[in-house]
Amino acid sequence: MSHRPPNILFIMTDDHAAHAMSCYGSRINRTPHMDRIASGGMRFDNCFCTNSICTPSRAAILTGTYNHINGVTTLATVMNNTLTTFPKLLQLAGYQTAIFGKWHLGEGPRHCPTGFDDWAVLPGQGFYHNPTFIFPGPNGGVKRTVRGYATDIITDMCLDWMEQRDPDRPFCLLCHHKAPHRPWYSDEKHAGLFLHEEIPEPETLQDTYEHRAKAAAAAAMRVGVHMDSTDLKCEMPLEMPESELRRWAYQRYIKDYLRTVQSVDDNVGRLLDYLDAKGLTEDTLVVYTSDQGFFLGDHGWYDKRFMYEESLRMPLIMRYPREIAPGRINRDIVLNVDFAPLFLDLAGVGVPREMQGRSFRPLLRGSTPPDWREAFYYRYWMNRAHHNVAAHYGIRTHAYKLIYYYYDGCGQPGTDEPLCAGRQVGPPLDFEPEWELFDLERDPHEMRNIAHEPECAGVFRELRDLLHQLQAEVGDERHPSDRD
Ligand code: CA
Repeated sequence: MSHRPPNILFIMTDDHAAHAMSCYGSRINRTPHMDRIASGGMRFDNCFCTNSICTPSRAAILTGTYNHINGVTTLATVMNNTLTTFPKLLQLAGYQTAIFGKWHLGEGPRHCPTGFDDWAVLPGQGFYHNPTFIFPGPNGGVKRTVRGYATDIITDMCLDWMEQRDPDRPFCLLCHHKAPHRPWYSDEKHAGLFLHEEIPEPETLQDTYEHRAKAAAAAAMRVGVHMDSTDLKCEMPLEMPESELRRWAYQRYIKDYLRTVQSVDDNVGRLLDYLDAKGLTEDTLVVYTSDQGFFLGDHGWYDKRFMYEESLRMPLIMRYPREIAPGRINRDIVLNVDFAPLFLDLAGVGVPREMQGRSFRPLLRGSTPPDWREAFYYRYWMNRAHHNVAAHYGIRTHAYKLIYYYYDGCGQPGTDEPLCAGRQVGPPLDFEPEWELFDLERDPHEMRNIAHEPECAGVFRELRDLLHQLQAEVGDERHPSDRD
């Protein structure tokens, strides 16, 4: 390639599921500005996280490594800011770098953002209204409150930074929103959106968790049942059968969620308009993704964590006119650990051997390498924590998914603490380890575990062997209970 390295505008939200974007065929909302990225570039239909929870996925994205390697296994772990990350390598190669918005990888001198010329990040989750930000300063930074709505403020910071940058050098800008993370507080502009509409329910809203591992029924993240008055912005009804409660709470929850998404979409539009106005569109890779997916009432749930599709899948759309033809769709398996190698590859910077992901630049050009992955490894470590979801690992191929629930915190920080909104929830997970196998073509909603069906014994054995192989390849270890 003879042209200059691209600018990189990396927009990432928190908990935005692909099925709440119209470019992915959403039945529940419209996202016209995100759709501009997809129609001008490529939509990835099989982009997945390797651990469906905020902090670990962010560490995987920055370092290009799995969580057992970078040490950020749970929400209670923080990232050592001396680790190698793609922004550091781009900065060393002459890029101007910045991050504004959500960081969620720790605070203080050892955990604040490094590798950035400028930054301002929310402490922890941050607030939607009048948020406090940490700005560069002594001992990991100084805190200051900024008036306004988080999504607008973060976008303003990005626009201001682009405006004052050196136009003769490429930039890498991370615009990382808090939205649409719980507790879903909308801005004033969108508060009345969907007010008199009925949002279509997902097919699996009334899931009863039969034919699944015990982990599914034990999870304390059911819409309504495991929500509080902060989630629903009203008092909880005292008496209501669970099926009615799910329906009622779904409408309240999903409308708030979609209102926060709508503000993100407006602000994506502001960034795209800026690139157009400044003649930067051709030279800029625009990425829109989220740190993981989310259950939008699917299986009767909100939240994420499980290796089930809605939570595992990350939305990923990219526009870069110099290498991506418009309106393309890719169905190869792409992972969060692949982002860092891709950005470095596009910038002409060598990918360190320690990075475990792989640049998917050939996919941007419509060419899948013959040895591209057909399966990937996943691990969720936070046994019981927050929503009583069991620790598990597994693999997904194009056709199948195999999950092993080992019901053990393995001594990881922040595990075995069954708290939701400060309350003890859910039964103890004192179950024997369990396998789940799903046929994704026949059973796309993952409603029937076929791990123990006699005619699936061959597939089960093959996938279990492949799981152990992939696990060893990325340097992780089997749980002691997982023996041949
Ligand atoms: Ca998240």
